Amino acid sequence: MSKDIKNIFHKQGLKFTPQRRAVLKVLQDTQAYLSINRIHTKVKELLPGTGLATVYRSLETLVELELAVKVHLEDGCHSYTLAPEGHRHPIVCTDCSRVIEYTECPIQDISKKLSKKTGVLIKTHFLQLFGKCEECRN
Ligand SMILES: [Zn+2]
Ligand SMILES: [Zn+2]
Repeated sequence: MSKDIKNIFHKQGLKFTPQRRAVLKVLQDTQAYLSINRIHTKVKELLPGTGLATVYRSLETLVELELAVKVHLEDGCHSYTLAPEGHRHPIVCTDCSRVIEYTECPIQDISKKLSKKTGVLIKTHFLQLFGKCEECRN
């Protein structure tokens, strides 16, 4: 896995730096959306002295390489998570930031209809759902 990721960086002429590696590791180890501050705190445990700006730039690079996904949570903060493999729709708990991946796609049929209606050939979409998970509801 990490060898493939190295290749993804090298193909784009980028280096898989220790900082980028640490940021990716933090995302890989977490099954939730993390705010940039929380990622920064965890990255510093792996690489003390890493600055917030470096973490931010690393995250943006990971998003560009489609290894990570950036979302706007309801509170207006940017959060990041590892990009899901394959076509999935994340359902995010707004209380604990837990992510449940929903693998059935409800959008395919709507896309076809919308393509007909609008004349735009819809190729892809990104859909996230937000709510309260079972544990947080109790
Ligand atoms: Zn929850
Ligand atoms: Zn879909």
